[in-house]
Amino acid sequence: MDTTKLSELIGLSLNAQQQFRSRWEEMNDDESVFLSSDSSKAILKKLEEKLADNYPFFHPRYAGQMLKPPHQIAMAAYMMAMQINPNNHALDGGPATAKLELEVVAKFARMFGYQNFIGHLTSSGTIANLEALWVAKSLHPQMKIAFTYSTHYTHRRMCKVIGAPYVVLDSFDDLEKKIEEHSIGTIVVTLGTTSTGKFEPLHDILPIARAHGVRVHADAAYGGFFTLLARQKKLIVDPQAFLALNDADSIVIDPHKHGLQPYGCGCILFKDPSVGKLYKHDSPYTYFTSADLHLGEISLECSRPGAAAASLWATLEAFPLEADRGLGLILTKTRQAAMKFSQLISTSDYFLEYTPPDLDIVTYFPRTKLFSASEVSQATEKIFIDLMNHPVHPLYLATLNVDSVSIQKKNPKFICDIPTTKILRSVLMKPEHLDFVPTIFAELEEYARTNIK
Ligand SMILES: *Cc1c(COP(=O)(O)O)cnc(C)c1O
Repeated sequence: MDTTKLSELIGLSLNAQQQFRSRWEEMNDDESVFLSSDSSKAILKKLEEKLADNYPFFHPRYAGQMLKPPHQIAMAAYMMAMQINPNNHALDGGPATAKLELEVVAKFARMFGYQNFIGHLTSSGTIANLEALWVAKSLHPQMKIAFTYSTHYTHRRMCKVIGAPYVVLDSFDDLEKKIEEHSIGTIVVTLGTTSTGKFEPLHDILPIARAHGVRVHADAAYGGFFTLLARQKKLIVDPQAFLALNDADSIVIDPHKHGLQPYGCGCILFKDPSVGKLYKHDSPYTYFTSADLHLGEISLECSRPGAAAASLWATLEAFPLEADRGLGLILTKTRQAAMKFSQLISTSDYFLEYTPPDLDIVTYFPRTKLFSASEVSQATEKIFIDLMNHPVHPLYLATLNVDSVSIQKKNPKFICDIPTTKILRSVLMKPEHLDFVPTIFAELEEYARTNIK
């Protein structure tokens, strides 16, 4: 990252604050909040030392979990707005940033093909999903919310929070029968599962759900931005599920995953604006200064950072939601990185792919001599630890536990001596991964040559 450019941008955001303050008469900070320059610096120095205990999320050597720093335009914009500290709960808490929020949310809605909609930012994908589940439960109070084992674990947790009955399906096969059998009122479909980045077949599920009056919620927290690549001529993602998104009842997307944002930014969209009535409350302390809708009126959360909306707005100005430039170009590269890595693994004598990547997440495991779940798990753990602690060129991967039988299905010789197998997982979510993937592969191979038995 160009830190000179960043400090210039941060400088602009500090100037903006000076300009803003100069509109009012000068004031001195109270002595109770005074902090000398020396003690501030000493504290920050201490913090720097504590923060050193981290992995290099910014670097392509980090090919583990879904983590990367925000873009510098996001940091500078966040900083600019944070100094004012608007609260997007109500229009009088953050008049300017509420407008920015409406603007960015409308951009997402357009990307998914929603015409009429309501939606807003949230502090995370979990809270955005909670909102969708809460609306689902309000509309079908007695019926179950259904999802599969691949669904993010927080759906189960949030169903418990709202007291909604739920059922975990082994698949969406025989869906009609399952809808009747379990009295299903809502189906959660994931586009880009957190573990392997797979798409669940939204396009197949929707017609069946519609025929039975069942709601469909699309959890596209991770995969949602890949919608940008679904209308290209030369396709590098399977477009079917994305093209069906405009028919889902609600959609969640996480700008703090693939939208270059700092944490604290999820988004929920509802296709039918009339669900807004479910939120209706007459909170006496909510101060209305305008007839316009306050975002807090259609949100389960109260206070939310207006700075998050400002940061996202600025980022989308720089990196528009388009296929061949802006965010689309970044995603094209991360997707290509995964395809390249997957291709390299197919040439390996030491590794096997677990499942072909739908997005930019690659899952693979070492081919041990005694080809059993326990041996593969042990070798995986060893690779994970040893590579991370490599004295010269550390490599940071992640691990994932999968059902041993799912490996045996594709590899009949695989011995299922324990029910789950630990495998390797790499989220290649940085465009820099595209050029770096051969290095990652070469280092894995070099390690395996001498260490995998
Ligand atoms: C990350 C993720 C979530 C949870 O979102 P948070 O922002 O981490 O709370 C939910 N669903 C999917 C598919 C995810 O990838």
